Amino acid sequence: MEGSHFDVIVIGGGPGGYVAAIHAAELGAKVALVEKGRMGGTCLNVGCIPTKALVRSAEVLETVRHAQDFGVMVNGTVDVAWDKVQARRAEVVKTLVDGLTRLVRGHGVEIIGGEGRLLPPGDSVDGPPVVEVTVSSSETRRLVAGNVILALGSVPARIPVPGLDAPGVIGSDEALVLDKPPARLAIIGGGVIGVEFASIYRSFGSEVSIIEMLPTLLPVADEEIGKRLAVSFKRRGIQVHTGARLTGVSGSAGHFTLRFERNGKLEEVQADTVLVAVGRRPNLAGLEDTGVEFDRSGVRVDERQQTSRPHVYAVGDVTGGSMLAHAAFMQGLVAAENALGREARFHHFVPAAVFSAPEVAWVGATEEQLKKAGAPYQVVKLPFASVGKAQVMGETEGLIKLIGETGDPGSARLLGVHLMGPAVTELVHEYTLVLQNGLTIQQVAETIHAHPTLSEAVVESAHLFLGMPVHVAPARSRS
Ligand code: NAD
Repeated sequence: MEGSHFDVIVIGGGPGGYVAAIHAAELGAKVALVEKGRMGGTCLNVGCIPTKALVRSAEVLETVRHAQDFGVMVNGTVDVAWDKVQARRAEVVKTLVDGLTRLVRGHGVEIIGGEGRLLPPGDSVDGPPVVEVTVSSSETRRLVAGNVILALGSVPARIPVPGLDAPGVIGSDEALVLDKPPARLAIIGGGVIGVEFASIYRSFGSEVSIIEMLPTLLPVADEEIGKRLAVSFKRRGIQVHTGARLTGVSGSAGHFTLRFERNGKLEEVQADTVLVAVGRRPNLAGLEDTGVEFDRSGVRVDERQQTSRPHVYAVGDVTGGSMLAHAAFMQGLVAAENALGREARFHHFVPAAVFSAPEVAWVGATEEQLKKAGAPYQVVKLPFASVGKAQVMGETEGLIKLIGETGDPGSARLLGVHLMGPAVTELVHEYTLVLQNGLTIQQVAETIHAHPTLSEAVVESAHLFLGMPVHVAPARSRS
């Protein structure tokens, strides 16, 4: 039975699971990773990576469309070869999945193909956990672990609206692999997935409508940013219906009618394809009776990623919360450390990055959260139009909204930052570093940034907060 005993068994090979497995192996453990599908989970196969491949094709298309603004004349029509867009998406995913599989094996982790299930504790809940793996319909294996790390991921949420089970109503997996961009695409849910697909398919020529139940797009973002994104999307010709309660969908592929109620009035949208993007829920299948406590929002874990059962940890989407790959990466590291007798805690600021056009990103508290908590704060807003590099790039839309402590500006710390505009999915990390390390806004202002770069906007936002901006008029007069 030597081959069935491991120091750590990870169930699930997505961002939380593979990072946990690799790090446990780096710490000297004998590690197995059980995965029923392809390595990389939702993020790599049907989430972050393939959508960003489509985003990149859409960006190139928009750049070519606007080439003449830069004095570059493209003669003839600009056509999209959708099969090539799709082939590139598939190739990017394949390269990364193959590379990841080699990488995991290269770290000495044994990948076991099959569906893994944590078995209920035997006589002693403290005993070594056992994982049963269904390798095929005729073969199961039992593996004994020092510790198990559950990284079971999530599945799309469903809503009980009549008509959503018709063929032609799709989820995000299918939205990646459509055989052509739909002429009319209706998206239910204006969260991250809804916004990213709206942006992608609008670039490829679809008439896009978003039906969002709450009052703004990206309801978890700072409200002002959600509103500004809606304005920008409308300018791009995307129909944005917020505060809209979907009551029913009728028809079939090519001829859908979506009915919704907004401000007490009934409205309708017609579409060929309907994409449902109303959130994801943790994949809790098979956890009943395992001694691992969970509820609808996910497996309960403490800051060490420890579940209620000794020797069992959980990471990533299965624990609910922000359901972001980069949060799962950190949780995987934390779980591996704790499983192997070291001490680590997940107490991190998690940046959010939305790859729409324009991009949106944020980290830390929103204005609404601070208001609700009764916390004092002050806000400054730096428009990208004031940034030299943004002018050079022809990307002047958007702003940095910086929220900091009140009182002596010299010692004020950052509370949150909310960005919309060029490369903000990169810029947000400078602020994340500031928040994670408790730096002051003054310290940001004292850090030289190269000119001309978009990163200069980070320093300029700090100067603006301190009341001494160089490239914009001061936000408030100083007494
Ligand atoms: P989400 O929670 O971001 O958004 C779901 C949206 O659907 C919400 O705005 C919600 O108000 C709305 N909604 C719910 N019920 C509705 C109804 N009946 N009618 C109309 N609207 C309704 O979820 P998502 O966009 O499906 O994304 C799923 C997960 O994937 C999220 O956790 C997200 O963070 C993650 N994700 C992240 C990225 C990224 O970080 N760039 C990209 C894609 C997905």
